[in-house]
Amino acid sequence: SSGSDDNDVVVIGGGPGGYVAAIKAAQLGLKTTCIEKRGTLGGTCLNVGCIPSKALLHSSHMYHEATHAFANHGVKFSSVEVDLPAMMAQKDKAVANLTRGIEGLFKKNKVNYVKGYGKFISPSEISVDTPDGGTAIVKGKNIIVATGSDVKSLPGITIDEKRIVSSTGALALSAIPRKLVVIGAGYIGLEMGSVWGRIGSEITVVEFAPDIVPTLDGEIRKQFQRSLEKQGMKFMLKTKVVGVDTSENGVKLTLEPAAGGEQTTLEADVVLVSAGRTPFTAGLGLDKIGVETDKIGRILVNERFASNVPGVFAIGDVIPGPMLAHKAEEDGVACVEFIAGKVGHVDYDKVPGVVYTHPEVASVGKTEEQVKALGVNYRVGKFPFMANSRAKAIDDAEGLVKILAEKETDKILGVHIMAPNAGELIHEAAIALQYDASSEDIARVCHAHPTMSEALKEAAMATYDKPIHI
Ligand code: FAD
Repeated sequence: SSGSDDNDVVVIGGGPGGYVAAIKAAQLGLKTTCIEKRGTLGGTCLNVGCIPSKALLHSSHMYHEATHAFANHGVKFSSVEVDLPAMMAQKDKAVANLTRGIEGLFKKNKVNYVKGYGKFISPSEISVDTPDGGTAIVKGKNIIVATGSDVKSLPGITIDEKRIVSSTGALALSAIPRKLVVIGAGYIGLEMGSVWGRIGSEITVVEFAPDIVPTLDGEIRKQFQRSLEKQGMKFMLKTKVVGVDTSENGVKLTLEPAAGGEQTTLEADVVLVSAGRTPFTAGLGLDKIGVETDKIGRILVNERFASNVPGVFAIGDVIPGPMLAHKAEEDGVACVEFIAGKVGHVDYDKVPGVVYTHPEVASVGKTEEQVKALGVNYRVGKFPFMANSRAKAIDDAEGLVKILAEKETDKILGVHIMAPNAGELIHEAAIALQYDASSEDIARVCHAHPTMSEALKEAAMATYDKPIHI
């Protein structure tokens, strides 16, 4: 036994859902243990997801700016080159610092950290296979499953993390591939495609669906795709991969139109499979204690994050809802608040989504397609960054803000932004949406000049009245 027999809360999984839940539980005075098998805390997000991808996106953007933008700003130098090992080392340093930081937060908040693979023995007992080959029993009144998700493979395609990689392999390639084929045009594929495209790879994205990033507003998506194409990314939509042959020289993919038809081939040095993620519950023993899951293996929970088994809760990527780190964190806090006898709250309709390409695309609330489907009368206000003074001053003016508001009440229904820093700009809209603000509410707030945020104010003006600067 680990000496933690009388835990109030045991969390299985130390990702953004699990570690946040554990810290919050401890802060609420609950005796808490977190079990993690990986060896480091932070889960997919910190180790092989959000953080390393953003590190490489930033590094590759710097190179792209150096080769494409600096001269326009009168900054000249004789040569510039990519030092891939150094780029990877800076990414690894960021990851190591952050994951260690969470261990520090565990100590500070007195969360007991048990390393190893956790399995249910009963709804209140977990057996942990520890790294030294032993077993520890961890007991708790409440167990939170936060085991997250894993890469989804495709039938007939074996991921070797060398020639055929998942996002994990794509974050750690040892050489810049000449040709990189990305299977799946979701945000992970586009982000990783951007990284390697900026530092020299030829990128082709193959997607079964007719559109890239299906959750985006249609109008924004069109502009976004055009922007990526201008950067050299090629798209083969409505196309399925029916075969993959790996040889010493590379990979040959056999493709077919999604609706069926003539086959074609495509060559690649490296293939990235980014066709979605799947809930991870392998070896956990959910069936043993009778926890209900849906068809794709997600744990079914109620609004208190409780499963059908009393005392067993679940949060994050392993339950239905947007598979995002910040959503997992919100789940974790709310779940623990309920366990502590308080009231928690997460609204999945107001979870912002961001694609961290350049420009970034961020949105919160409903798309125009969703608003139309609801049959609500609505107004649209738009403002292009071409008319925003800060964007022009820094010569980075691609994109727009689009606001959807209910016609009768002017209540904001959705906000969509394509801009270099859209992921930061979106939170003003998130607050507006959370507090049921109208577009006029945003328009009447004084915004500092010159900022990109002024585009949001102007788009709000355009929604209920007229903008000034266009
Ligand atoms: P996870 O982070 O997957 O953590 C689960 C943890 O549980 C893992 O560490 C695992 O080892 C552990 N575990 C599983 N089973 C057991 C067991 N039986 N015993 C012990 N431990 C166990 N999201 C964003 O919001 N923004 C982004 O920019 C972003 N970028 C991403 C980029 C990539 C390349 C990828 C792959 C994902 C990205 N995501 C991003 C998604 C994000 O990583 C996930 O939504 C998030 O990590 C989910 O958190 P979680 O805590 O539910 O699960």
